[in-house]
Amino acid sequence: MIIQLPEDVRFIIHTLQDAGHEAYAVGGCVRDSLLSRTPDDWDITTSARPEETKALFRRTIDTGIQHGTVTVMLKKNGYEVTTYRVDGEYEDGRHPKEVIFTANLIEDLKRRDFTINAMAYNEESGLVDAFSGKKDLEEGIIRCVGDADERFTEDALRIMRAVRFSAQLGFFMEEKTKTAIRGHAENLRKVSAERIQTELTKLVTSPHPEYLRSAWETGITAVFLPEFDRLMCTPQKNPHHCLNVGEHTLRAMQAVRPDKILRLAMLFHDFGKPDCASADENGTDHFHGHGAVSSKMAEEILKRLRYDNDTIDRVRELVYWHDMEILPEKRAVRRAASKVGKELFPLLLEVKQADLAAQSDYQRPQKEEWLRSLHDIYEQIQEEGDCLSLKDLAVTGRDLIAAGMKPGPQLGQTLQNLLQLVLEDPSRNSKEYLLSNLPKET
Ligand code: ATP
Ligand code: MG
Repeated sequence: MIIQLPEDVRFIIHTLQDAGHEAYAVGGCVRDSLLSRTPDDWDITTSARPEETKALFRRTIDTGIQHGTVTVMLKKNGYEVTTYRVDGEYEDGRHPKEVIFTANLIEDLKRRDFTINAMAYNEESGLVDAFSGKKDLEEGIIRCVGDADERFTEDALRIMRAVRFSAQLGFFMEEKTKTAIRGHAENLRKVSAERIQTELTKLVTSPHPEYLRSAWETGITAVFLPEFDRLMCTPQKNPHHCLNVGEHTLRAMQAVRPDKILRLAMLFHDFGKPDCASADENGTDHFHGHGAVSSKMAEEILKRLRYDNDTIDRVRELVYWHDMEILPEKRAVRRAASKVGKELFPLLLEVKQADLAAQSDYQRPQKEEWLRSLHDIYEQIQEEGDCLSLKDLAVTGRDLIAAGMKPGPQLGQTLQNLLQLVLEDPSRNSKEYLLSNLPKET
C-alpha cells in the first residue's frame, strides 16, 4: 500500500523522525488517499511533545496547544501536528476534561471516531490499520472504533459526523453504530449550534443530501431540526405531487447542484407546508402562502444554527419566491427579476427546476417548457442589457431634485414608479422620457 505524500508532509515527518520521534500522516488524509481522492488537508500525528515539535520548525502556531496541536507553517501552508494522545474523561459529552499524551500510536488511533478515520501512514511503516479501516472503506461502512455507545457518550458531535461521512462517501452506517446513535441522539443538545451547522452544511452539500433521511430515522433531526420531522408526516394529496413533503424535499435537494445556498434553499423551501395545509371540497391538499411561511422559518432556523447573514438573506429570498408564478414573456420576467434581484434570479430558476424535478409527472412537459422559456427570455433580457434595478435607471434622485422635486421619502417612491415604467418597456429608460413623466404635483 503506497500513498503519495506531498513534499511538505514528507519533510515534516522526516524532520520529526530524524530527531528520534515517530510521525505519521493520519485520519482524513489517509482515508481520502485510499479512496483516490485529493485530501483537503494533511494532519500529522507524532510521539513528539508540542515543545519538541516547535523546536524543530522555523514557523509554528499554537493552534490547540492544550490538546497537543501545533500548526507547522511551510511557505503559506499550515499542517496540524498533534502529539499522540489519549482523551481523558469527558466532562460534558463535548470536551475531554484532560488529554494525556502517550508514546503509543495505537492508543492515539483508538481515540478517533470511525475506523475509516483511524488509519495512519508513513513511508517506513506503510499503513497502520489496527481497526480494519481499510476493509470498512472497501465495503462502504461507517463503524465506530471500539464501543459505539461509549464513543457517542464521550462526544455527541460524532453522531452528526457519522451521518455526514455516510452522505459524503455514500456509505451505510453499521448496525451497532446506528443503534447507538438512536440511543444517544438526545446528547446532541449539548453540542454547539456552530458545530452542528458545519456538519449540516457538509451533509447537504454532499453527493447524498437525501441521507438526511437517516438523520431523521435515527432521531437526530428531532433534536436539531424538528421542523423537518413534521414534513415527513405531511402528505400531499395533489396531482402535482407523489411524495410526502419530506420525501419531496429530499428529492429536491438531490436535484440541485451541490451549492450551499441552493441546497439549503431546497431544504427549507416547503418547511411552511404543514402550517399552511388545507383540503378543498374534492379532498385535494393546498398549501396557500407556504413560500412566505417557509421563508420566515428558514430565517429563524438558520439564525438558530448561527449561519452568517449573507447565507440567511439569500436562502430566505429564494425560499420566499420559489413558488412565484411568472408568465413566459419579457415584461413579466423583467418584473420578476427586478423583484428577486439580478444575482438571485438565475438561482431562483435553478430552485424552480429542482422543485419541478421532485414533483409528479403531472403536466411535466408543459412545466419544463415553461421553465425553459423563462430561462431563454432571461438570457435575452441580459443580452439586451435591460434596466432591472434603480442602479441602472437613467435618472437618479439627484436628477429629480434638479428637476424641481423636494428631497424626502417621496423621491424614493417616484424612482420606484419610474422603474416600473421602464420594466414595462425598456426603451423608456432615457432622461427625457422619465423626466417628462414625473408626478404632476411636483
Ligand atoms: P474532513 O476534514 O473531510 O471533514 P476529517 O476526517 O479530516 O474529514 P477532521 O475533523 O479534519 O475530519 O478531523 C481529523 C481527524 O481527527 C479525523 O479523521 C479523526 O481521526 C479525528 N477526529 C476528528 N473529530 C473527531 C471526533 N469528534 N472524535 C474522534 N475523532 C475525531
Ligand atoms: Mg480534515
